[in-house]
This record gives sequence, structure tokens and C-alpha cells, in this order.
Amino acid sequence: MSAAVSLSASGAKVERLALSRFTTLGVGGQAEVWTVENHAQLSEAMSAPYRILGGGSNLVIADEGLKERVIRLGGEFAATDLQAAPESTAEHFISGWVGGGVPLPGLLRKLRTLGLSGLEGTVGVPAQVGGAVWMNAGTRFGEMFDGLFALEIATPEGVSQLSPDELPWGYRDSAIPRNHIVTRVRLQLTRSTPEAVSAKMQNADTSRKGQPKMKTPGCAFKNPGGVGAGKLIDDAGLKGTQIGGAMISPDHANFIVNLGGAAASDVHALLELIRQRVGVPLELEYELWP
Ligand SMILES: Cc1cc2nc3c(=O)[nH]c(=O)nc-3n(C[C@H](O)[C@H](O)[C@H](O)COP(=O)(O)OP(=O)(O)OC[C@H]3O[C@@H](n4cnc5c(N)ncnc54)[C@H](O)[C@@H]3O)c2cc1C
Repeated sequence: MSAAVSLSASGAKVERLALSRFTTLGVGGQAEVWTVENHAQLSEAMSAPYRILGGGSNLVIADEGLKERVIRLGGEFAATDLQAAPESTAEHFISGWVGGGVPLPGLLRKLRTLGLSGLEGTVGVPAQVGGAVWMNAGTRFGEMFDGLFALEIATPEGVSQLSPDELPWGYRDSAIPRNHIVTRVRLQLTRSTPEAVSAKMQNADTSRKGQPKMKTPGCAFKNPGGVGAGKLIDDAGLKGTQIGGAMISPDHANFIVNLGGAAASDVHALLELIRQRVGVPLELEYELWP
């Protein structure tokens, strides 16, 4: 039986849903999910305690679910305008607005087809544009802020547009406060060719060899001071360790994967085991909700 859907005063879709369907780990209990399509709906959604959900690729959400409402970006926040804006030049391409709810992999495919260069380093990051901007996702080949011209950010107080130069962004951090919602961005790219963009993407993608292809929220821990967290976990003999439906990947020890039917509590138990068995303090890479 499908969940009951209601409409808020401004027309946002409101449903009580299991969040497991929105996370790459496939784990997470229920919450009231608000799908917003425009600023009026977003403003109403932000009038009570909320969390903003992107591609769910960096989250472990509790089995008990969440008390706060969860906002998902749809409608105009999931639209992509890749027409050249008047600020563009013969060399540089400035885009129209690209929604924070747009899946990053699909956007990168479009940029490759158009021969637009600048975001190739983010290939393989299974995020939405807003989530990738919020944490300045990327790899050693490049990051989100390499290709940003402007951002639009919504808070309960209102909507503002700013230039990336106005933010003290850094490594995997945009400095945008939590729950300030990246609703749209404009891209700043270099005109190139589909072949050259494709080659750069392939180069960045080869660095992912060995990463597990199963349901996962990505790397569990940050590398502590030059040593790979995966190596430390492997050295502690934990590769392949299973608790409930969750397992430390036999392919790459810094990934916890869902074998099917994993609970958030299984993942928490594995994280705790790793912390106990690895001799050095480890900082979590993904977020635990709540
Ligand atoms: C297989 C795999 C590989 C990965 N590889 C990489 C990698 O190479 N490099 C890398 O950096 N990361 C990587 N990640 C981690 C993850 O993809 C990034 O952290 C990504 O930025 C998360 O974006 P998301 O849209 O999925 O956000 P979510 O996981 O949904 O949310 C993460 C955080 O972003 C916030 N957020 C989401 N959307 C918005 C928005 N519109 N405005 C403001 N805040 C928002 C959420 O509130 C939350 O705090 C990987 C993950 C997986 C599963």
C-alpha cells in the first residue's frame, strides 16, 4: 500500500516515508518528507525544524527515523539551464542556474557532451549538486568549487545570492552553515571538446578502482595524518568482518557495505569495533543522523 500524500498550504508534497530509499547505504527509518518545487514551498518547509537531504550518499540514518522534517529539492530546484549566459566569453562558459537537487553524475554527462571542462575531478561522486557544493566534494583531481560562478542559498530568514569568493571554502568544506540550503548554482567552465573532457573524467575515474560496487555511504573514516584509514583497518584484521547485514568490505577496508537488510545499528557496531581495534583516533567521514 502506498504512503498517504498530502499537500501543504503552499502545495509542497508531504509524505511519511522510510528514508532508506533515499540513501546509497539503503538504511534509514521514517520521517516526514517535504518535496519542494519552488521558493514558496521551501519557505513553508523551513518554518519548523528540518534537515536538507541531497543524494543521501554521505549519510547513515538511524533505524528509528527522524523527528525533524526532511526536505528534498524538486521542481525548479532540479532543473538544469546550460545555456551560455551573457557573462560567457570565447574561452569561458558561464551557465544559467542549475538546481541543487540535480544529480551530479547526470550533470557531468551533459558537460562532457558539451565539451565543458572544470568539474571532471568530481566524476564518480554520487551526490546531488547542492550536497556536493555544501561539502565541496571532490578528489585529488578537482572539486566542486573549481567550477562555481554563483550560488543561491536559502535559510528561514530568506534567499541570497553570492559569489564563491565570499565563502572561506576549503578542503571538503564550503563553510556554508548546516541547514543553509544550496538551492541553485551557476557554473563557470572552460570551453573544451567532448574528447578532452572525457579523457580527464576517465583519468579521475581510474583512481576508483578497487572501491566496492555495493550499497555504501562511501569512505567511513578520514585518513589520519598521511596513513590510509583503510590500511589501518586492514592491518587490524577487520576486512570482511560482518555484523548483521553490514560488512567491512573485503575489497576496501574503509568501506562498510550493506549486504541486504542491514540496520543502522549494524553499521554503528562495526564503526565502534573499528575504533576499538585500530590503535589511533579515527574521525568519521560520513554523517550519522540524528
Ligand atoms: C561510492 C561513494 C563514493 C564517494 N566518493 C566521494 C569522493 O570521491 N569525494 C567526495 O568528496 N565524496 C565522496 N563520497 C561522499 C558523498 O558522495 C559526498 O559527501 C557528497 O557531497 C554528498 O552529497 P549528497 O547530495 O549525497 O548529500 P547527502 O548525503 O544527502 O547529505 C550530506 C550533507 O549535505 C547536506 N546537503 C545535502 N544537500 C544539500 C543542499 N542542497 N544544501 C545544503 N546542504 C545540503 C546534508 O544536509 C548533509 O549534511 C562518496 C560516496 C559514495 C557512496
